[in-house]
Amino acid sequence: MIDKKRIEKLVYELLEAIGENPSREGLKETPQRVAKMYEEIFSGINENPKDYIKVFKEPGQGNEIVLIKDIPFYSMCEHHLLPFFGHMNVAYIPKGGELIGLSKIIRIVNCFSKRLQVQERMTKEIADFLFLGLGTLGVAVFIEAEHLCMTMRGVKSVGNKTKTYALKGLLSSDPQKKEELYSLL
Ligand code: ZN
Repeated sequence: MIDKKRIEKLVYELLEAIGENPSREGLKETPQRVAKMYEEIFSGINENPKDYIKVFKEPGQGNEIVLIKDIPFYSMCEHHLLPFFGHMNVAYIPKGGELIGLSKIIRIVNCFSKRLQVQERMTKEIADFLFLGLGTLGVAVFIEAEHLCMTMRGVKSVGNKTKTYALKGLLSSDPQKKEELYSLL
C-alpha cells in the first residue's frame, strides 16, 4: 500500500529542497494533493491482474483475431519520475472460444501502466500476461508514446514518439495470422 502520510512529509521536504517555501499560500495543500494523486497514478504497483481477470466462453468464437485499438494510457518513467503517455493497440487470438472482456483489457493496461515503468518493459509485460497469464493463442501489443523526460528536458525532441511492440504465439509465428493482423491495423 502507498504510505500517503510519508509522501506528504517527503513532498514538503522536496519543496524546500528545490528552494521553495512550502508554507506559501499556493503550496500549502500541495503535499496532500500529490500524495492523493500518487495513490491513483501508482495504483498498479500492488495489483496483480491475475486476481481479477476472468475469461468467458463464447462457443461460436473461432480463432479470429480480437483487436482493441487506440487504448489511451498514462504511465510514469522510472528514470525521471515524469509521465509518458499515448495509445496502444492490443490484439489476441482466443483459445477455445475464451474471450477476455473489453473492460478487462483496459484494466490490464491500467494495471501495468499505473506503475513506474519503461515503455519497452511495459509492452512485454502486457503481452506476456495476455499470452502466458491468460493462455491465449497469440498476442500483439503496439505502443506509441510521448515521454516528457525527452520533450521537456534534456534533448527536448518535441513531438518525438517512441514506438514499441511485442508479438507472441501465432501472431509472431503464423504468417497468415500476421497478415490478418496488419490488415486490421
Ligand atoms: Zn525518462
